[in-house]
Amino acid sequence: MEFARLAEAFEKLEAKTSRLEMTADLAELLNGAPESQIGKIIYLLQGVIAPPHRGIELGVAEKLCIDALATVTGQTERAIEASYRKTGDLGGTARLLLEERKQRSLGASQLSVAKVHDNFYRIATASGQGSQTAKTRLLAELLSNASPIEAKAITRFVTGRLRLGVGEATIIDSLSYAKAGDKSLSKELERAFNLSSDLGLVAETLYREGMHAIRAFKPTPFNPIRPALAERLPSAAEIIGKLGTCLAEGKYDGLRLQVHKSGDRVEIYSRRQEKITHMFPDVVAAARRQIKAKDAIFEGEAISYDEETGRFQAFQETIKRKRKHGIGAKQKEIPLYLFAFDLMYADGKDYTTVAFAERRAALKALVSGKGLIELSKAVAVKTPAELDAFFEECVNAGLEGVMAKDLKAPYVAGSRKFAWIKLKKSYAEGLADTLDVVVVGYYYGKGKRTEFGLGGLLTAVRAEQRFKTIAKIGTGFSEAQLQELRDYLTKLKVPKKPDNVDSLLEPHAWVKPELVVEVKADELTQSEMHTAAKTGGRGLALRFPRLMRIRYDKSAKEATTEKEARGLYESQKTH
Ligand code: AMP
Repeated sequence: MEFARLAEAFEKLEAKTSRLEMTADLAELLNGAPESQIGKIIYLLQGVIAPPHRGIELGVAEKLCIDALATVTGQTERAIEASYRKTGDLGGTARLLLEERKQRSLGASQLSVAKVHDNFYRIATASGQGSQTAKTRLLAELLSNASPIEAKAITRFVTGRLRLGVGEATIIDSLSYAKAGDKSLSKELERAFNLSSDLGLVAETLYREGMHAIRAFKPTPFNPIRPALAERLPSAAEIIGKLGTCLAEGKYDGLRLQVHKSGDRVEIYSRRQEKITHMFPDVVAAARRQIKAKDAIFEGEAISYDEETGRFQAFQETIKRKRKHGIGAKQKEIPLYLFAFDLMYADGKDYTTVAFAERRAALKALVSGKGLIELSKAVAVKTPAELDAFFEECVNAGLEGVMAKDLKAPYVAGSRKFAWIKLKKSYAEGLADTLDVVVVGYYYGKGKRTEFGLGGLLTAVRAEQRFKTIAKIGTGFSEAQLQELRDYLTKLKVPKKPDNVDSLLEPHAWVKPELVVEVKADELTQSEMHTAAKTGGRGLALRFPRLMRIRYDKSAKEATTEKEARGLYESQKTH
């Protein structure tokens, strides 16, 4: 397919705000594309060249782009920079420059989607000596064959500024529209996506093999599965009321790892489907040794353990591994255990559809010998008293609480169900649980904090696609955290309040609602200042909120919901 068609579609999508219209446009675009190009088109629409878990990032610096534009247009870098400063959009500048050029250069050829994708891929993977020159050349080759609109799309894409506003849900709906004329296939397509985290693969399967292949979709090693998530209930009695006899497991406060193995190859993914294999060479070695299957996908919580005190260490200690450097040393300093708790796939068998009791039995048979991988501590409980006793035992052993699991439930990828219910230590202490809230804005701060450029955060809970404020957080920050937050949030800064944020407060700076932070508060109260769970002119607010930690491992979609906040507020009244 010609790249021009895609670039025109980008233009149209950019101007649209109605999801329905976007869906219809996308469906038409996909139906007009050859089967072999569908996957690539989907990735390009998402602003990536491969599914994010492959870790192939384009990240071309603006400087390199300006160099390429200078080569192609014959303008000086200074002139290009000056124009860029005026528009604030390098894509717009590229378009203008190419319009001024009037004619395409001699011998220019039509760009195809495949050619553009191929050059992007080569730019992303070029490394070592001379790679900068090679990247500039590959980009210049595209630009010299591009029309002004194509140049704008290419420039925005390579600098990571292609903001089409088409999310995963919109792409899934448009695939359904393309094939059925309505949303009737979306649920099944979403299941396939949740099992693979790869929309290009889902779309290609749909176009090549049809819906029967989507319905038969299975997990496959090295396509991370979106994690099943837990609900919460405030007491053992309510949990037993909901589940009856269930399996109670220790809730480890570590890092959730999804381990994929096929033969000797092992990869590890985070709960956000990032490839984090390099941080856990010890887990990789243990998986090769201890997992008795050729192919397997399983999950567990990694947590560091202090041999001297015999206690598990705080989440902060485990997460130190997330730093890329010095892993060898860290590995010695912080020995780690992986407590396996679920099995999704082994040697051709899809375990996501079978009952948890069977999955757990298969997991037990799969993990062999002594080593870093162990099964999570678990016991079957029938009564609230038994669950309370196990909870007590876990908390005394330094765990965060328990996870009660429905023995009959399948593994539902990517969704929060009452198949898993958490009971945490903090409820038992009579405090509200911590909340995972999303930062929507920040304040510059007073006094000493002015030097950090950040003094407080405006945060929100999630309500479907919207974010509603629940707290202004001004305490609990260490200096290092202030700096870290400032650096991170400056990158997310936007000029005005995002459309999907409901707020009565006006912070000094708005940011895209992406970063999740965990907060602790004394209680939930009602307030006219906040928009979360609003009834009768009053929303919910956190009283004395303090920052516990930054949760890079959680996405905004996993933040505490408005409904959960309301539930916590209600449960406060009865405790
Ligand atoms: P939360 O992050 O508080 O919603 O709790 C859910 C998380 O608890 C999961 O994503 C896991 O990272 C973690 N977890 C710890 N122990 C277990 C366990 N035994 N079973 C399932 N999840 C666990």
